[in-house]
Amino acid sequence: MKDVYILGIESSCDETSISIVKNGCEEIATTVFTQMDTHAEFGGVVPEIASRMHTESFTLVLEDLLKKSNMNVSDVDAIAVTYAPGLLGSLLVGIEFAKTLSLVYNKPLIAVHHIAGHIFANNLVKKIEYPTLALVVSGGHTELVKMTSDYDFEVIGTTLDDAIGECFDKVARVLDLKYPGGPNIEKYAELGKNNYKLPIPMDNNELNFSYSGLKSAVINLVHNERQRGNEINKEDLASSFQTIAVDEIIRKTELAIKETGIKRLIVAGGVSANKYLRKELETLSNKLNLDLSIPPLKYCTDNATMIACAAYPQYLKQDFTNFELNGKSQEYFFQKKD
Ligand code: AMP
Ligand code: MG
Repeated sequence: MKDVYILGIESSCDETSISIVKNGCEEIATTVFTQMDTHAEFGGVVPEIASRMHTESFTLVLEDLLKKSNMNVSDVDAIAVTYAPGLLGSLLVGIEFAKTLSLVYNKPLIAVHHIAGHIFANNLVKKIEYPTLALVVSGGHTELVKMTSDYDFEVIGTTLDDAIGECFDKVARVLDLKYPGGPNIEKYAELGKNNYKLPIPMDNNELNFSYSGLKSAVINLVHNERQRGNEINKEDLASSFQTIAVDEIIRKTELAIKETGIKRLIVAGGVSANKYLRKELETLSNKLNLDLSIPPLKYCTDNATMIACAAYPQYLKQDFTNFELNGKSQEYFFQKKD
């Protein structure tokens, strides 16, 4: 079969990225321009600044990518772009850029969901084998999913309220940690001890998750201590929170493996960059003799490589979109897109 080259485009938040990937698993080249330093000054991503910076960056990012890859846009077989979820203005800049390339170079256009990108980033490590369990831990998702083939998902566990990444970000905020919250909780936790007592979320044998109780417990604890004029030990609270939040993921993942008998596990989403989670997953994998795949750190944070990977199965099914493609700030991944 002829090799398929896909040019992927990602701009759902504060990274402008373009990548070329061969056959959905071999990275040819990727360029990522992060706006993180600009937004850090404001304590979080400022949507309008993000959109403007994407507009300024895209052509330069493309120029850099083409130089690195030694290819032209005319050499690729399709253009893929993140259409959801994310900051609407940011998504639209990427979508418009993708449509323009698709029109000018007469290439099919593929709409990719950001979470599909995180899942199919695993193909960069080794080809996903089925059936597999996928653990999706991100800013908007906390899911245990049974996959029997590409894009064939059955959610067997999900959060009943907040997503784990959202909970990391909110806890970071109440501790006055700088943006980005999740990675900063991890940094503080590395220096702290696990000695604040916090409630275990969903202390039962269901596969579902709940993070709002844990989040509220941290917020209440901080407020109560401040009202009493007591200092919070941020390192210790970050460590206590991270331990409980991650241990819950591990406990439910172990249950899912036992219930389904599936001993393959792929991990996806921004929270999979967390080193304590990665270490605990390795330990679980050794204990249960799992075939475990976690993408390297650079593919866990937002990048266009994963978008080009996720577009490949869609390319094979000729699942192309037209120029009416629009961005969606929110779209739960595991329901079929219309
Ligand atoms: P995503 O929604 O998949 O793009 O991932 C973004 C989420 O991952 C945000 O909620 C981040 O705070 C979170 N995140 C990124 N890195 C880490 C980390 N090292 N530890 C915990 N959470 C993280
Ligand atoms: Mg992401």
